Amino acid sequence: MIKVVKFGGSSLADAGQFRKVADIIRADQTRKYVIPSAPGKRFAGDTKVTDMLIGLYETAVSGGDIEPGLRSVRKRFEDIIGGLGMDFSLEDEFGEIRKRLLEEPARDYAASRGEYLNGKIMAAYLGYDFIDPFELIFFNEEGNLNNYKTDKVMNQRLEGVGHAVIPGFYGQGKDGKVKTFSRGGSDITGSIVASAVKADIYENWTDVSGFLVTDPRIVPNPEAIHTITYRELRELSYMGASVLHEDAIFPVRSRGIPINIRNTNKPGDEGTWIVESTARKPKYTITGVAGKKGFCAILITKAMMNSEIGFGRKVLQAFEESEISFEHMPSGIDTMTIVVHEDEFLDKEQRVVSAIHRLAKPDSVEIESGLALIAVVGRGMKSTRGTAARIFSALAHAHINIRMIDQGSSELNIIVGVANEDFETAIKAIYDIFVITQL
Ligand code: ASP
Repeated sequence: MIKVVKFGGSSLADAGQFRKVADIIRADQTRKYVIPSAPGKRFAGDTKVTDMLIGLYETAVSGGDIEPGLRSVRKRFEDIIGGLGMDFSLEDEFGEIRKRLLEEPARDYAASRGEYLNGKIMAAYLGYDFIDPFELIFFNEEGNLNNYKTDKVMNQRLEGVGHAVIPGFYGQGKDGKVKTFSRGGSDITGSIVASAVKADIYENWTDVSGFLVTDPRIVPNPEAIHTITYRELRELSYMGASVLHEDAIFPVRSRGIPINIRNTNKPGDEGTWIVESTARKPKYTITGVAGKKGFCAILITKAMMNSEIGFGRKVLQAFEESEISFEHMPSGIDTMTIVVHEDEFLDKEQRVVSAIHRLAKPDSVEIESGLALIAVVGRGMKSTRGTAARIFSALAHAHINIRMIDQGSSELNIIVGVANEDFETAIKAIYDIFVITQL
């Protein structure tokens, strides 16, 4: 049994958190490869070490004094080392970081040092090997992960290594320099390592007890989801629910490795299992509900549209010409609606409208703004009748007008559009009917 365990920034924000993490790792010898993030926020309003480091880089390139910033970063790490009662010095590492910042400042190098230093401390604290991902993770010319090389090199390097700490978030670019993933990218490192060593489980430790049924900023203390499929997760993440970096799914998914989201502060909680497929019935008809505000709908009307071959293509071409991607496209007999992100669309709206007129010659084009989309997602919906009815009656009872409905062909989700100002009430009403009252 091999487990790859990744710990997020809040799980490693200070010495107290480090101790919890070490207890978790030591409690299970199969937790072989440990992927740390950089120290995150210790309290609301605190600054993540990664942000401090990016700030340092900016100071360096603008020719400012990096010493005060460097001291603050160093203090964060010294506090951890001191708090753990370790006899360990980062003198050489900070010397090197200072030198690089002054001589050849590079953003990704600076940003990656939080993970690097945290990895050094953690390896020393646990008595594990430290393996620099600079030697294991490779990017190609376009800046994307070089899967083939990474998998091969990592596999060889980790063979026979008992236990090791591998910092998250970065690897080596095609130019031989440090390159980071996008923010939150330590999740990706964990997934790549799990895939390369063909782990049985990828545990991703954070500060919540799993993926929640809905957004806790809207519904206080929502339930955690026990098991969710990759496809359900994709639908919910796309609609704004976040626990895991999107790109962390692919490496493990391609090898059928489940992800277990766990809570460092409540290690007894089982957390959420993210799996390819499951026979386990979801506890409720829905697995989750998520949404986003800020969409707009472009309503296109043309008599006899239904019999005009190529009409849809011409309309979509108008969006393509302006490089706007569309989210949904519900249609009627003589109407077609295109839903897009308001902020992508606003600057280009008149260009798109005139392109629709030029290409598709519609009777009218109307724009409605202020639309919020809510995705009700669940593998259980397929086999249950009345799900749509329950959503609509919940919204009707909450006095919310539904402005758009779209059901994906997979029957995995139902999307409803409501006014921005009804968004929170709508999410609460849907959560209520499926999870609380279960009417
Ligand atoms: N430390 C990096 C960030 O703050 C990466 C990570 O935590 O996953 O984005």
